[in-house]
Amino acid sequence: MSARDRETVEALARVAAALDGAVLGLGTAALAVVSLAKYLAASGALRRIAEAPEVAIPDLRYSLLAGLGEGESRLAVVRGLVRSPPWGKFLIPPGSREHCVVAKHTQTCLFGEWRGIFGWTFDLHALFFKSLKEQTITSFRWVPFALVDPASASDKSTEMIHVKLDGAVQQSLPLTTVYHKLIPVEQNSYTLFQTIVGNGYPIALLDEEKILPIGKEITAIGLCRVNNQNVEITSCPEIPFFLSDLTKGEIEAELDSRARTLFWVTFALGTMSVGLLGHAIYRFWEKVKQHREARQAQQRFHQADDEDDTGENGSDDDFPGEMGDGQLCVICLRKRRKAAFVPCGHLVCCCNCAKRVELMNEPLCPVCRQDIQYMLRVYDS
Ligand SMILES: [Zn+2]
Ligand SMILES: [Zn+2]
Repeated sequence: MSARDRETVEALARVAAALDGAVLGLGTAALAVVSLAKYLAASGALRRIAEAPEVAIPDLRYSLLAGLGEGESRLAVVRGLVRSPPWGKFLIPPGSREHCVVAKHTQTCLFGEWRGIFGWTFDLHALFFKSLKEQTITSFRWVPFALVDPASASDKSTEMIHVKLDGAVQQSLPLTTVYHKLIPVEQNSYTLFQTIVGNGYPIALLDEEKILPIGKEITAIGLCRVNNQNVEITSCPEIPFFLSDLTKGEIEAELDSRARTLFWVTFALGTMSVGLLGHAIYRFWEKVKQHREARQAQQRFHQADDEDDTGENGSDDDFPGEMGDGQLCVICLRKRRKAAFVPCGHLVCCCNCAKRVELMNEPLCPVCRQDIQYMLRVYDS
């Protein structure tokens, strides 16, 4: 590797070393931005929910939606009982056989702990993978449904609010677990294979049924509009709640605590990233300065040495016999010591040997084996 290549590699290594703090700082800054976005979303949603009026279902049409044009909608909070509309259908899931409007059937594979041949458990595995269950949703069905006022519980289609679930299936729904059954897995050659190869063995299959039963009282927060004589509610994309067991006040309290946590997380991450980035910039600047100083000192050394060679050449050609051992170069044992290494400060080499040391892959002081940053030409008169 030539001296120039080496210099380039060293410079790159220095940049990389200075960047590790910067990468950490940038990572933290990115997390802070994500957390800030979440905080803004949560506080925005909180503000919108706080502003949304809580309206009784029979009053919706005449108070909130009076005077609204076709296709226009307003955000509102309603609370009512789940009903299927007069002409509507309801579901009867096979497990519980309870009448409902949303039915979700999941199967979870439960794994036993692998105790190994010697009877001890893998602690690390238990820490990370014990909770790992393979879950598969085998079916998710829903039918159009509506909410009715808990006081009047009228079954007239015009006094209900029809829930449009289509866009909100991904959101959490206030489902109740009504049925679960543990089916033991039969031991066969496949489970034996898994026991040997994998870190756990399947012991059972958990069959679960969750439903939104007819008659349950829930809260809906969303956009209300009149469509074909019926009042409808759809989920509002900016609000992380649509249907919930909680009341409006409880939802606000939950969002408020979420927003507060996010605020402090954002604040901590932001402060940390500013500190890390500042430190990385400072370190990088220090390294650049150090590098520049070293290069300047090196140039001065070479210049001084060239002047020696061209000028009064005599000083380098001292006779070894005239000098004590303490003045002779420890490498060639022929010339006077004139090059001091920085930072260790050892003055043990003549200029030529010092230059040879400098050209080595890792320039180290021949006495103390410390890294050499640069060399100084020493004059004794
Ligand atoms: Zn020498
Ligand atoms: Zn040294």
